[in-house]
Amino acid sequence: MKGNQLINSIYRATEGEGVFLGRPQIFVRYQGCAVGCLNCDSKDTWDFDREMGVTTTEILERVYTEGFNGKIKNVSITGGDPLHPSHVPHVLEVASALKDRGYFINIEAAGTRVVDEIFDIVDYISFDFKTPSTGVKTPLRNIQKMNVLYPNKFQVKAVIADKADFDAVLDAYKSLCITEDSLNFPWVLTPCFNTEEQFPLQRFIDVMKWNEENGGFFRVIGQQHKWIFGPDEKQV
Ligand code: SF4
Repeated sequence: MKGNQLINSIYRATEGEGVFLGRPQIFVRYQGCAVGCLNCDSKDTWDFDREMGVTTTEILERVYTEGFNGKIKNVSITGGDPLHPSHVPHVLEVASALKDRGYFINIEAAGTRVVDEIFDIVDYISFDFKTPSTGVKTPLRNIQKMNVLYPNKFQVKAVIADKADFDAVLDAYKSLCITEDSLNFPWVLTPCFNTEEQFPLQRFIDVMKWNEENGGFFRVIGQQHKWIFGPDEKQV
């Protein structure tokens, strides 16, 4: 056992975004992120100093009880940034233990790193393509590597705040179409729904329209949990 892990929260909820939309799962949310997205909706997970004192054994117990004593077998390992180097040994230990117990594991990756030792053992990877509005950049070579090493085992998700974000995604997609033989993953556009914002209906309509006008290469999937509970509610 690797000792205590920095955990923000462990809770059961219905997945609100991406290709697993609507699926009940247990979220294991790591505490600590150094990526610094400007429109991050989880800034409470950035701080690395909040030692929550959770052992792997306690995490496994919480996942079991939150999932109605093991009935729910899907786990999302998220953050913060669960792939920050300081988290990697812990995440490896937790993911291995969950796999041994028959759980399906989806890990949320910020798109800044490809961490093979973790990606090899999890069932699915949700990989971010950071758009200009985030202030962060995803190297295209990371998606090229994912496409080769993990075909049909990952989705790419991109937050879209405006037309510049959409254009950046379209440019990236077209570049990949030139360099890759085939693209083996779904690419999801997530219309941005900021904290303290009213439901951004026009942004959703615009993103769907831009996608349709440009060939419909992407899937537009909003953040359902924010429609239901509001953009500021946590652990939903
Ligand atoms: S990687 Fe995730 S948690 Fe970290 S700043 Fe970006 S959106 Fe927030």
